[in-house]
Amino acid sequence: MNSDIEQILITESELQAKIKELGSRIAEDYKDKIPVLIGVLNGAVMFVSDLIRACPIQLNIDFMAVSSYQDSTESSGVVKIIKDLDRNISGRHILIVEDIIDTGLTLSYLLETLQARHPASIKVCALLDKASRRRVNVPIDYLGFQIPDKFVVGYGLDFRDLYRNLPYIGVLKPYLYEGITG
Ligand code: 5GP
Repeated sequence: MNSDIEQILITESELQAKIKELGSRIAEDYKDKIPVLIGVLNGAVMFVSDLIRACPIQLNIDFMAVSSYQDSTESSGVVKIIKDLDRNISGRHILIVEDIIDTGLTLSYLLETLQARHPASIKVCALLDKASRRRVNVPIDYLGFQIPDKFVVGYGLDFRDLYRNLPYIGVLKPYLYEGITG
């Protein structure tokens, strides 16, 4: 285990088993459609790439990059689009694929922004949910795991753009980010 990690919260095999399950559910629900899976960069990069391989249907993928945290562990509430979609989603069935829903501010902003582009439907798939931290109500149609209010890294999730390549979800030792405010 990486020495900056206090505890492994979700192991690699637990992640992979859950993703297979989510992929089957999504494949069943969208079997008569060609959905556009929208990965929210950079955090969802591993999740979306494993999820589409667990999803044996026709689908498109696209990516958006947003930033709300900068170098902090707290959401600023201000979401900025750094990279927009490459396609027009009007009339399309959209599945937003997020790494983690914390305050809900990022997802709420994304839902509002994408809804204004008149898709046929929008659903949300999130790997992790920190429900106790929610500030705005957001729907999660497909969820991997509920987690406690701890700052986690790994499997795409970062702190200062590090730790994304860990194959598990781990709790970062707090002394590494203490003193940094949102
Ligand atoms: P929200 O807007 O819901 O507060 O935050 C969503 C975004 O914040 C996520 O997409 C993720 O990038 C980041 N985030 C929230 N909680 C954590 C966490 O525990 N660890 C990491 N690495 N990022 C987090």
